[in-house]
Amino acid sequence: MMLDQNLAKPPRGCELCGANVARRLWSLHFDGYPGRFSLWQCQCCGVVFNWPRQPSEAIHDQYNGDYYVFSSPPERCWGRAVQTYVSLLGPLEGRCPGNRLLDVGCAQGHLLALARGRGWCVEGVEISQEAAASASAEFDLTIRVGTLEDHASHIDPFNVVISTDVIEHVTSPQRFVQAIRQVLVPGGWAIVETPNWGGWWRRLGGRRWLGLNRFHLFLFDGQSLSRLMEDCGLAVSEMRSSTSASGVDWAWRPELAPLSNRLPAGLQWRARKLLSWATPRNLGMALNQNPPRNLDEALVRVEHLLAVRPENYTSSRLLGDNLAVWVRA
Ligand SMILES: [Zn+2]
Repeated sequence: MMLDQNLAKPPRGCELCGANVARRLWSLHFDGYPGRFSLWQCQCCGVVFNWPRQPSEAIHDQYNGDYYVFSSPPERCWGRAVQTYVSLLGPLEGRCPGNRLLDVGCAQGHLLALARGRGWCVEGVEISQEAAASASAEFDLTIRVGTLEDHASHIDPFNVVISTDVIEHVTSPQRFVQAIRQVLVPGGWAIVETPNWGGWWRRLGGRRWLGLNRFHLFLFDGQSLSRLMEDCGLAVSEMRSSTSASGVDWAWRPELAPLSNRLPAGLQWRARKLLSWATPRNLGMALNQNPPRNLDEALVRVEHLLAVRPENYTSSRLLGDNLAVWVRA
């Protein structure tokens, strides 16, 4: 296959820092990806990236139709929206001079609907036509179809831009962050969340890590993410890590599977029970066990959770699967 022919050749230079010192880490196989999926790491800035890569059109096409994130049941979408709102947007409530909020990669609009219910004036950008149509139809939201880079030059600026689980999918993180900066008012906030290459789940799991799949073209740790933000003119204010509801139960972590798989079949379920029991009782776990079923229930949960200030996010950059950074224009 065409992608395989260049597998051993490094890219000409790191797309983030320009250095010519990339080292190949792994060659992986993923269903639906042509050939092998090679991950390299820049030895200068630390960013991890897939190379060689499919053409941009092929990458964009894979988000239409049956992209797995868009087929989640509503409870899971509301659970995730509540967790995201409470952890990432909650801390900015009342701290911005205006209330215009943009969600980049808004999927079916659950977070936007929730944020509007909390008083934000919301809009979204979404690459999948189907997901955007669903967001508009179900919640009557303003969604622009395409990438942020497509729209950045002709939309009114926002006080806050949030983007979760997007930057690892884009073909140029630099252009993506520049577009975020372009749509922020001076002093506006952006929150970017992405899988945490520097986290201990990745260190423990290696190529079994939950954060690896054929859609993730760039992976960051705290240092490479900060550097990218600062290179694009955004000042890093805070950085935290967390684990989202879907990965929170240790019984189902792929990184731990080799341990329990070595046990006799009769003991495997006991091992899983033990791992479940050992999982810290955090917000993701609570939302998994008792997810909100609709917008009203989600709003009630947010109100309650913001009042009790849950310790969902840790200031450690190591503990969680995801890394979130708060930056200012
Ligand atoms: Zn680099």
